[in-house]
Amino acid sequence: MNITSSWPKPWPWQRKRWLQGRFQWAASLSGGNTIIAKARNRTNQLRNATRHAELEAIDEILADPALTPPGSSRYPFSDTTLYVTVEPCIMCASALRQMGIQRVFYGCTNDRFGGCGGVIGVNDRLGHPSHPPYEAIGGYSREDAILILRRFYVTENYNAPAPKSKANRVLKTEILPR
Ligand SMILES: [Zn+2]
Repeated sequence: MNITSSWPKPWPWQRKRWLQGRFQWAASLSGGNTIIAKARNRTNQLRNATRHAELEAIDEILADPALTPPGSSRYPFSDTTLYVTVEPCIMCASALRQMGIQRVFYGCTNDRFGGCGGVIGVNDRLGHPSHPPYEAIGGYSREDAILILRRFYVTENYNAPAPKSKANRVLKTEILPR
């Protein structure tokens, strides 16, 4: 599959965000290539380990009655594609499945907590009696995603509960192939 050819029309906006972002960004798009939510990881800001970008995006959509009117189907995300820098973790991968997400594109693999095959395939390998599996495609704008994460981790994070000096860290720009 040619991943870049399927990047949706909002790509320039998203690319700009990805390139300048210090955070782990996520964006959900409807089947019609319309951005319906933009979110970022707020775990440090809110001191809440569950506030991953994916769940922030889900909450934004559910809170908008125009997007999720009362009486919506059990799976209100069945025509929604999620784009995110890092493979959703096991928590988010499960939540996305329970919400009936249609598809996920992510930049780089989450080796420690990946729920779309990085560690365990919550999205499609685990059987479930009711929640349908969803497709998760990695390697999507991977170089951008890796650099965003590296920038984030070499930059002082003023929102962290116990900020540590990262003044001596250097941004590595070399990206090894998978
Ligand atoms: Zn997560």
